[in-house]
Amino acid sequence: MTQSTKRTNRTHPKGRAYDPWEHADDLGVRVFTQRLRTAHGLWLPDQNAILVHSQLRVAHQRTVLAHELGHAVHAHSDDRPKHERQADRFAAHNLICPTELEELYEWCPDEGRLVDELGVTTRLFQAYVLSAV
Ligand SMILES: [Zn+2]
Repeated sequence: MTQSTKRTNRTHPKGRAYDPWEHADDLGVRVFTQRLRTAHGLWLPDQNAILVHSQLRVAHQRTVLAHELGHAVHAHSDDRPKHERQADRFAAHNLICPTELEELYEWCPDEGRLVDELGVTTRLFQAYVLSAV
């Protein structure tokens, strides 16, 4: 039997083309969408699985999943502030492509519009800016 369908080491496009569902699949992390009471997303290290709140808009689910994947990749076992920052940085650097951002800066002067255009949250955008300096 061949392992030709396994794509673990494949690189993923960054920015608007980034697909965190595909990335999760490649990492062997299972993703479930269901109603969550206390969070938008949850990383379950023991089950190598991520839960995403089913009532969120798809664009929001995408940013939540990108963040939770950061916890998965860093093998976090709790949500201490340092881990939250790492997960945000991971998400930001996948969801934001430097070239796309550079182009946007040319015609989009305000941060609110920029964040909208990038399809990220203000928190992730700030994580990107702070870690890029
Ligand atoms: Zn988190």
